[in-house]
Amino acid sequence: MTDGFDLLIRAARVIFPNEELPAAVGVHGGSVTAVMPVDHPATAARVLELDSSVVLMPGLVDSHVHICEPGNTEWEGFATATLAASAGGITTLVDMPLDSVPSTVTVAALDLKREVARGRCYVDVGFWGGVIPGNIRELAPLRRCGVLGFKCFLADSGSDDFPQVSALEMEQALGVLRDLGAPLLVHAEDAESAASMPAVHGRHYADYLASRPRGIENLAVCQVIEAARRSGGRAHLVHLSSSDALPMIASARRDGVALTAETCPHYLVLAAEEIADGATACKCSPPVREGANRELLWSGLRDGTLDFVVSDHSPATPDMKETASGDFGAAWGGISSLQLGLPLVWTAARRRGCSLSDVARWMSAGPAWLAGLRKKGRVAVGYDADFCVFAPDESFTVDQRDIRHRHTMTPYTGRELDGVVSATFLRGEPADGNAPRGHLLQPEASGA
Ligand SMILES: [Zn+2]
Repeated sequence: MTDGFDLLIRAARVIFPNEELPAAVGVHGGSVTAVMPVDHPATAARVLELDSSVVLMPGLVDSHVHICEPGNTEWEGFATATLAASAGGITTLVDMPLDSVPSTVTVAALDLKREVARGRCYVDVGFWGGVIPGNIRELAPLRRCGVLGFKCFLADSGSDDFPQVSALEMEQALGVLRDLGAPLLVHAEDAESAASMPAVHGRHYADYLASRPRGIENLAVCQVIEAARRSGGRAHLVHLSSSDALPMIASARRDGVALTAETCPHYLVLAAEEIADGATACKCSPPVREGANRELLWSGLRDGTLDFVVSDHSPATPDMKETASGDFGAAWGGISSLQLGLPLVWTAARRRGCSLSDVARWMSAGPAWLAGLRKKGRVAVGYDADFCVFAPDESFTVDQRDIRHRHTMTPYTGRELDGVVSATFLRGEPADGNAPRGHLLQPEASGA
């Protein structure tokens, strides 16, 4: 005799947005249908008992992933990225519109991306569309066809078919997207300032850092704020690195500007002073800055100025990362870390007195909110039964042999981290890499 649940999880520790409590979570048809006292006598076809050595937390939502397929499948692909995600406790990815060929700037390109993704994803996947010069008429059709929002660059993106927009073009796009109810994600570095810096060569990280000073970011953040203010559109700052921008963001929000911001594990974990000569795995743009900057980003996260943390998994081949030369000027700018995000952030967060509820807000609920995924990011009735079972007190050493990305290079090899993902569930079923059951997501729904 069961109570209509397909799965019942009795857990000593369930992570809710503001607290951790024992609970029994009932799942039916892929959704959470009951959250009950842990000793509730309910039964189910399958029962999972979790002791206090692990927590049941919402599956992570990573809204900033470059999957690169089609076109650059030798960098990454839907199967490898989503396998790595499931191994890392992530149950939803949102794919960036560039680094694939074609970029997702037309409906035809979105259709092609869906075609190659269909049947190959081990977790759920949604798509951002791109804003480039001249495609403003594509935005409404792209939204109708299922993109969750849009991304643009204010500086060179590194992809020939994804040119940057001017501040004016960004503002025009924000106006259009306001009426479509979609956010605009902005890579905030100022093109002119970035282009005026002398080219960098060599193996010294300090030289690369000096070529991308905070001012390049600060200036672009100002442009985003004023464009959002004037247009009334919703702007989101991706991968914030400059802590100087935190008071500017807070000030804009006090004025009522619709602005959110994310940062990434590398800005919260790495520090410029500690990056070895030739360690091009650590190159990204905007760059990882000094340890003091890192601590200010943690303050911004704790006080809510920064909304959440996503990977900006931006993979490339070892050749592109110039592993042989270690030349920071020539190396591709992008860090691979998708599978490791949760232990990276948890290890650093617990040392700063933060809780697993904080981490779940930053890595599940926050990104789900940005992407408009109303059934993702929480353990709550009506939400998808997407879970990560996580052993927060176990530790492990990052070993390239365990990495499921297409390329295993990452800045974190050999690092000792706290927290082991022991299981991932997608809509109530184990996401263990045996079957590609991931859905392709549409706005404001989690099924497709
Ligand atoms: Zn990115």
